[in-house]
Amino acid sequence: MTATIIDGKAIAKRIKDEIAEEIKVRNQFGMPAPGLATVLVGDDPASQIYLRNKIRTCEQLGIRSFSYTLPADAEQAELEQLIRTLNENPEIHGILVQLPLPPQIDEYQILSLIAPQKDVDGFHPINAGMLSRKESDPWFIPCTPSGILILVQSIVSDIAGKEVVVIGRSSIVGMPTAQLLCRNNATVTICHRQTQELPKICRRADILVVAVGNSRMVKSSWVKPGAVVIDVGINRIPDPADPSKTILTGDTDFDEIVNVASAITPVPGGVGPMTIAILMRNTLAAARREKPL
Ligand code: NDP
Repeated sequence: MTATIIDGKAIAKRIKDEIAEEIKVRNQFGMPAPGLATVLVGDDPASQIYLRNKIRTCEQLGIRSFSYTLPADAEQAELEQLIRTLNENPEIHGILVQLPLPPQIDEYQILSLIAPQKDVDGFHPINAGMLSRKESDPWFIPCTPSGILILVQSIVSDIAGKEVVVIGRSSIVGMPTAQLLCRNNATVTICHRQTQELPKICRRADILVVAVGNSRMVKSSWVKPGAVVIDVGINRIPDPADPSKTILTGDTDFDEIVNVASAITPVPGGVGPMTIAILMRNTLAAARREKPL
């Protein structure tokens, strides 16, 4: 069996095209451009690259971006004041604080200060709490989990009753992905470092989502034949062909698993492009002052 390669780049492009089209129509009716504020504390190179991609995508789609950079030794009070100001600014519909924040900053406190209606990353405790309650819809669902759901649905028409295993329980990927798939009536098992017999549990999965940050950890022997595998990991490792260079790898052994799974996301070009597309979709939704789901 050779797996279908799930083309996240193409699916993300379709979403972005729709967003650009809607923003064009909004412009024709004199409605304000959606505005996204990005906040970076410090000069971490990976964070700078992620933010540059987000800002470039905003420009391509007609979203106004407002970037704010604070020094690495910025104080909690300074960042809190900035968030309060952004909450009050009517030109700014979405606020994104690039994570991770430096150790002197209380990340939870900062994310809790963002107005839930502008929380396009979906990390505010109110939005996280509403995601965990079946009877409430959050203003925003975190971008990577939303993107994962769309990728899964591009292959599996109805995930109700499917056996899903998510490896990873972080607040930004693993846990909200598990909650979102559960809301869509999958039967979800969440795994982490303390999980016993991880390969055996993974082999139960119709849909296996891997978000650990550990290059090529999941082997083909962990995958049930015909399963759908979503690889969220982004790992930069030395290039075996030229150790002076680096390559990007996922958390799964793609070359082996492609012969066992029915579908798999590549790295790069799978989940990554979806995360940015959903951020844009959430920002447009914030400008509409509607709940996106
Ligand atoms: P975190 O480090 O916050 O969480 C990793 C999770 O994986 C933890 O729950 C941890 O368990 C679990 N884990 C780690 N090693 C093992 C192991 N050997 N066995 C079982 N579980 C393990 O990472 P994130 O969730 O933020 O990110 C995960 C990956 O996804 C990273 O590679 C990151 O770069 C990537 N990512 C990709 C995005 C995209 O758009 N494609 C967006 C965001 C992240 P425990 O809780 O017990 O410590």
